[in-house]
Amino acid sequence: MSYESREVRLARRPHGWPVPEDFDLATVDVPEPGAGQVVVRNSFLSVDPYMRGRMNNVPSYVPPYVLGEPMEGGAVGEVVASGDPSVPVGTHVIHGFGWREFALVDAAKVRAVDPALVPSESMYLGALGMIGLTAYAGLFAIAGMKPGETVFVSGAAGAVGQMVGQIARLKGAGRVIGSAGSAAKVENLTGRLGFDAAFNYHDGPVADQLAKAAPEGIDVYFDNVGGEHLEAAIGAMKLNGRAAICGAISVYNSTEPPTAPRNLGLLIGKRATLRGFLVGDHGALMPEFLAEAAPWLRDGSLIADETVYEGVDNAVDAFLGLLRGENLGKMLVRV
Ligand code: NAP
Repeated sequence: MSYESREVRLARRPHGWPVPEDFDLATVDVPEPGAGQVVVRNSFLSVDPYMRGRMNNVPSYVPPYVLGEPMEGGAVGEVVASGDPSVPVGTHVIHGFGWREFALVDAAKVRAVDPALVPSESMYLGALGMIGLTAYAGLFAIAGMKPGETVFVSGAAGAVGQMVGQIARLKGAGRVIGSAGSAAKVENLTGRLGFDAAFNYHDGPVADQLAKAAPEGIDVYFDNVGGEHLEAAIGAMKLNGRAAICGAISVYNSTEPPTAPRNLGLLIGKRATLRGFLVGDHGALMPEFLAEAAPWLRDGSLIADETVYEGVDNAVDAFLGLLRGENLGKMLVRV
């Protein structure tokens, strides 16, 4: 027996903004697993900004996607055939072989999850997975956020940003400020997610809007965006300010070098720190993070919005929509 599976492949490397023609949808037969392998029927696929970087053929912390091959990415699903007794049929797992309906995976490369513990197993790709841990590691292990401090997060309506602002508030931040790309997103941040202030970065210079939202300056900046946002945050930093450099989505599709930040010299007098990080280096924090975050998610004090596209044939649209800012919270594809 085999499993007919549709999968998304990278057909050519995008130049600047990706377009649908950069991708192919192919149908393959996934064979029965050999010894030590499992076949997973994926239920949710993750699309993430870092995938844009993997479409370029440049050296990075992860290898580039291979042209003509299915792309990789986070996925959660159920084992439907198993060649490994430690991962029996019916086990729900997360793994890195998304962008396809069925995945043949080494059993050693899947991690079992309990779908009964969460409202939707998609949460293991977001708030209770890599996304939530990114927020937690960046805020505490990297930026050393302390109660009473003022925290600014860009990309605040996205998956990581929503978690950052809410976790900062739950851990006693004095003031939490977010920026996002639409009035509706800004309203969601202050009206529903408990941010003290938020602004639409399309409404005027980020530095001016940040100065209004944080007249006394910021202690911590969680950077998802780079460019003008980072420059504004450096300008607004108080003495001994810290920035967790998580992402730079404003430049992921650029074909020219970034023009900002132009004010790195301010770091000297401010004794400020900018520190990049990768969530993959902070797996040891996962148990501590889950112990704190799972009760918050259960009692509703932490909200995890999701934007869900239907079907692997819409995965490319979901990814392109993510880059355009069409998501509120985690962008996912239900298979
Ligand atoms: P996301 O924020 O859910 O989605 C991306 C969002 O970026 C869009 O919804 C869009 O919202 C915003 N955006 C797009 N272009 C922008 C621009 N030019 N300026 C400002 N905002 C723009 O994605 P995510 O998964 O939470 O990731 C957020 C950032 O964290 C990304 O940079 C990602 O690469 C990074 N990340 C890093 C790590 C790590 O280990 N370091 C781990 C996970 C994620 P708007 O409507 O607000 O524009």
